[in-house]
Amino acid sequence: MIAKKALGLPLKGLRFAIKSGDTLVKTASTQVTRFKTRFDEKKSANALDEQPVAKRNYAKASEQADLSAQEQSIDMREFEFTKAPINWIPAAILVATPIAAAVITPWYLWTHEVSAPVWGVFGAFMVWTGISITAGYHRLLSHRAYKAHPIVKNFLLLGSTLAVQGSAFDWVSGHRTHHRHVDDRLDDPYSAQRGFWFSHIGWMLRNYLSGKFDYKNIPDLTKDRVLQIQHKYYGLWVVAMNVGMVAAIGWLIGDVWGTLLIAGLLRLVLTHHFTFFINSLCHMFGTRPYTDTNSARDNFFLAIFTWGEGYHNYHHFFQYDYRNGVKWWQYDPTKWLIAGLSKIGLTTDLRTVDDTTIKHAEVQMQFKAAQQQIDTATSTGLDLPHAMKSFQDRIKFEYDAFKQTVEEWQSLKAQTIEMKKIECADRLREVDDKLKHDYAKIEQKILEHNSNLKTAFRSIGANEKAA
Ligand SMILES: [Zn+2]
Ligand SMILES: [Zn+2]
Repeated sequence: MIAKKALGLPLKGLRFAIKSGDTLVKTASTQVTRFKTRFDEKKSANALDEQPVAKRNYAKASEQADLSAQEQSIDMREFEFTKAPINWIPAAILVATPIAAAVITPWYLWTHEVSAPVWGVFGAFMVWTGISITAGYHRLLSHRAYKAHPIVKNFLLLGSTLAVQGSAFDWVSGHRTHHRHVDDRLDDPYSAQRGFWFSHIGWMLRNYLSGKFDYKNIPDLTKDRVLQIQHKYYGLWVVAMNVGMVAAIGWLIGDVWGTLLIAGLLRLVLTHHFTFFINSLCHMFGTRPYTDTNSARDNFFLAIFTWGEGYHNYHHFFQYDYRNGVKWWQYDPTKWLIAGLSKIGLTTDLRTVDDTTIKHAEVQMQFKAAQQQIDTATSTGLDLPHAMKSFQDRIKFEYDAFKQTVEEWQSLKAQTIEMKKIECADRLREVDDKLKHDYAKIEQKILEHNSNLKTAFRSIGANEKAA
């Protein structure tokens, strides 16, 4: 038992290393496929040149026909977009509730006394609904970032229902499609490429094709009995919670109408728009420290309103991590809740990305930002100032060293897979200790690249954060 326990931790490390090795193999095979595709394209272009003229013309014409058919289909889908019919029930709720809240709340507050218990319920419901969406619908159900005890899962499910953002099936299916097709004008259900209004709320007001979900991407949820019930009787659940439960609590604290207005309507509208910020503003304003392959941004101010989901750039790059604000000091109450619950066994299997992989992504973005600085300076056509020239040399030197580190890292991952295959169980601990030591060395090297780049940026008085 003790021996098994002692082996537990190193084995965990080794398992992680193996997993990383798998990723390496996948990356390598993707690269091979890409190369192969490019090679095939070249081959078919050459083959086309070798054909007789008539045959060549025919092949070119059919290629052009394919392209124009593709363009036509995109045009067709864009046209259908403009003709999408109104989504009456969500549109009525999403238009009427903010107007009602904006008109009735100031009047009510002016003419009535709202008691402290009513504000207390308002506060508690703001937290419950907001966190239920982020910890429940988002990190638990959409990304499987951790496992939750049924008590936690059902509590978050009730809070998400109180938030009136669609059934778990709809929400999760849409969100997984968003990650899969992020920024695609036709396939991302809330594509930020269509502007603030569309990504914030417009996408729900009409029955767009991109907003129709067939649940093929949620096989893990459709089997779940509780979620089936929530989906089937969603409308009833929404009314029971938002009217029935809120009014009952209002009756208990002696102010039914005040509670319905403040903890019901006002809370609903605020929670709606705080969540919608993630789809709109979090794809528009902020920094991109981990990737610039999509529009998602990290934004501390938005994290305050969105229970930590403002670190959206990190989230889009490492979506299965239970943390969105990955640094310990980043404001992410959702991650603190999940981590806190794990201490008492109510959440388990919290998934994280290892520090080296995260730092590697950051350093890559720093190099991109450095390249942009150099390109901007050289584009003027004038002689580079001395500081810029030495910056350019430092970056080149650092980049060569970084490539070397990445190569060492990759070969270590490959070596891990090999060792796992050949070593017998009693030597695993020894091997694991050595690997841990080697991985720590790589992490140290990546941290040094990170710090050298920061110093280089400071030497030219620039900010290394790519925006
Ligand atoms: Zn997003
Ligand atoms: Zn997500």
